[in-house]
Order: sequence, then C-alpha cells, then structure tokens
Amino acid sequence: MTAIDPEQVARLKALPAVHVLADAVDGVAPRWAAVEAARRLVAERRDAIRSGSAAASTIGVDEVRQLAIALAGPRLRRVVNATGVVLHTNLGRAPLAAAALAAVAETARGYTNLEYDLAAGQRGSRHAHAEELLRALTGAEAACVVNNNAAATVVALSALAGGHAVVVSRGELVEIGGSFRIPDILRASGCALVEVGTTNKTRLADYEAVIDEGTAMLLKVHRSNFAMVGFTDEVSERDLAALARARGLVSMIDLGSGCLLSRERQRALGLPEEPPVTEVVASGADLVCFSGDKLLGGPQAGVLVGSAAAIARVRSHPLMRAMRPDKLTLAALCATLALYRDGRDAEVPAVAMMSANAEALRARADLLAAELAGVAAAAGLEIAVESCRSTVGGGAMPLAELPSWAVTLRATSGADALDARLRAAAVPVIARVEDGRVWLDLRTIADVERDDVVAALR
Ligand SMILES: *Cc1c(COP(=O)(O)O)cnc(C)c1O
Repeated sequence: MTAIDPEQVARLKALPAVHVLADAVDGVAPRWAAVEAARRLVAERRDAIRSGSAAASTIGVDEVRQLAIALAGPRLRRVVNATGVVLHTNLGRAPLAAAALAAVAETARGYTNLEYDLAAGQRGSRHAHAEELLRALTGAEAACVVNNNAAATVVALSALAGGHAVVVSRGELVEIGGSFRIPDILRASGCALVEVGTTNKTRLADYEAVIDEGTAMLLKVHRSNFAMVGFTDEVSERDLAALARARGLVSMIDLGSGCLLSRERQRALGLPEEPPVTEVVASGADLVCFSGDKLLGGPQAGVLVGSAAAIARVRSHPLMRAMRPDKLTLAALCATLALYRDGRDAEVPAVAMMSANAEALRARADLLAAELAGVAAAAGLEIAVESCRSTVGGGAMPLAELPSWAVTLRATSGADALDARLRAAAVPVIARVEDGRVWLDLRTIADVERDDVVAALR
C-alpha cells in the first residue's frame, strides 16, 4: 500500500460535487447531459490527482457547459470536407443533389406508394420505382436495388451460384476496403472460388479450361482502387459473357463504381474516362452491379441491372428481404437517376465537384484566402494559395489526379495542432496535412461552406 499523501487527500476533498457543477449550467443543456458532463470531469480530475499529477481541484463552469452541449448534440454531424477527395468513404461518400434531398423529405414526411400500385389499387413492388429509370439509363432488361454494392454481390452470388463454383481471374481477387475481399465474399455467399490465370495475365482459354459440371458463374471484378500496367492481359466483358452463354453459365460483372455518363459526356466534363454502365450492359453480361454512392453520386445503395431472368432469380432469393432498400434510399436514388435522365447531371454534386476546372477552383481559393486573411493574421498563421491535386476516392479512378487549388495555412505551433483545432470546431473542418502545412482543397468545399471554414479558424 502506498503512503497517503495528506496534500493529495485535501485536493480530492476539495473537488466540487457533481450536482453543484450540474446546477451551475442549468438551462444550457438537458439535465442528463449536465450531470454526465459534471460526472466525467470530476472523475477525470480525481484520477489525475490520484495518479500524482499536479491537477487543480477546481473545474470551470465553461468546461462543464462545453462538454454538456457536446454530449447533448448529435453524434453524426455535418463536416466540411476540405481534403479534396470527392468520394471520401470516411466522410460519407457522395453528398446528395438538392432534388434528391427534396425527394427524401417529401417521402419521409408522410405515406408513400412504396409497395402500392396506384393504377391497380393493390400491392405493388418497391423495385418498380427505380427499375424503370435504371432500364432507361443502362439499356438493361431489368434492375433491382439493395443497400450497397457489397450486398448486391452477396445476394447475386447466392441466388445465381450458391453451392456451385465461380470462376474469377487471379488479377481480380481484390480487396476493396472495409474487409470486402472477393474470396471472402464468395465463401460467405456459399460459392466455391476457382482462380484462373496469373496476377498480371488471364486469357479466355484459362476460363475455358476450368469449366465443368460444378461451375455456375464467370465473375469479373473491376479493379476499382488500383491499376495494373506493363505486361498485362485480361478478358473483355464481351468475351467473358459470350463464353458463359456458350457453356450455359451465368456471367456477372462487379463494376464497383458505376458511371452513368456517356464517354462523350465524360469528355465534355473533362473527367477521366471510365467505362459507362451502358457499354458493360451491352457486352451481354447477365448481371452488372455497382454502387449508388460512388461515381453515380447518389445515396448508399447497390444497383443490379441485367437480364430479366437473372434479376428475377436475385429478387426472389430469401436474402433479398434482408437487403432490400428503405423508402428514403429509393427516394434519393430515383431523384438522382432522374437528373441523369433529364440531362441535369451537372446538378449531381459529385459530378460537379469532379468536373470543376482548375481556373474556377483557383478563383474560389483566392476568395477563401481573402475571407480568412483577417482571422489568419490575428492567429499568427501564414496563409497562401497553392495549386494541388485532388483525387476521386471511393475506390474509383485510382490513377486520376485532378488539378486543383488550395488555401494553405502554416502555424508556428505546427500543422497537426492546427488540424486538430479545425476538427474541434462547431462544424468540423477535415483538412489534409502535408509539407508542414494544413491544406484546404477547394474542390470539395461548397460555396456555402466557406463561412464554416472561417468560423472554424476563428
Ligand atoms: C466499392 C466496391 C464494392 C463495394 O461497394 P459498396 O457500395 O461500398 O458496398 C464492391 N466491389 C467493387 C469492385 C467496388 O469497387
């Protein structure tokens, strides 16, 4: 047992009572939050004193108030994405278009025809709403939607190849992140993986050689988050689909990030080229799946398009019930798809951000720098406008570097401390730390968010 230090005991005794501290911030936060804040701060101070630190016994009312307000506030909060990564998975991927937000609000407010056929006056299908738009936009015969693309692959594999073998090229046994690995997904779907080819080269003959009575599917997986260059070869979607058809098998393409813009439109917007979903569907694959919140710029969802027969099998699989999307997802997805259909793709925030040109971004960086100048000077920060490169993110277009402009801040206390202060703001600003500076990339900062950045720095 350690000897009792009378001075330590005195300081412990001098700690304020929890209820007294909570009373002191009465009215600024719900009672439970005030009590919880007071309890945590007292416990923290007690532990500090016991462990021999020179912590004082006093606890400021400001400290309690701040913590109580933070505890009572929402855990899931809006942040400013100043990283320049357009589809940042940690920051919730694609922000929704105004039309999608309006559709969510309208749908959430009251009742909807989610599973009700208004013309027939009887039960309908929740898949019907998005299906019509997806057929028009991709040229596929049929479509359905689940909660994300990982769910889309699992339900499709289970429905079309469960209990059988699925052939995949060794160059496509990828890990997407968040523990999504193709071999694990196949196992979880009750499929046996048959690897063909080598890491860098897979030929049609490799697939042909392994097909037997146990084979159900030829699967192709888009290398979303990395690229292979040099001595490489892979089988096209068209050849894979044709081989599957000739041998009575199903073919499926996991596109990862589905792009609904035509090649012509991609060029007009100055975007790095990505195979449009229409092209992949036209290759003849039975099933094509992709995410709703990657290049498409909609809500988190998994989209499956393909032949009527394949989609029907997916829809009637028992797992579908566990993975079906809710009305809010469907509302946001349908509204986003309608923007593409109506030639209003520039209203999709992810598309607008990816296609913003360098001059426009420079002008916005100059504007932000001017607005920040006063606060920066007062805080002793060195401010500059610099060119930089932003990325698409979300495991899409791994090689694409989009020329952009940033406001950079240099603090004598160091970039990490300044970065932490920006993250602690009422509306947190998530920046990039590089080269001993904090970088605020204008590609992902909306005009209406400039005030948030100024407030955070203040
Ligand atoms: C992103 C991705 C997935 C997973 O999609 P989520 O919508 O995040 O579930 C699956 N496959 C590929 C090839 C991907 O790029």
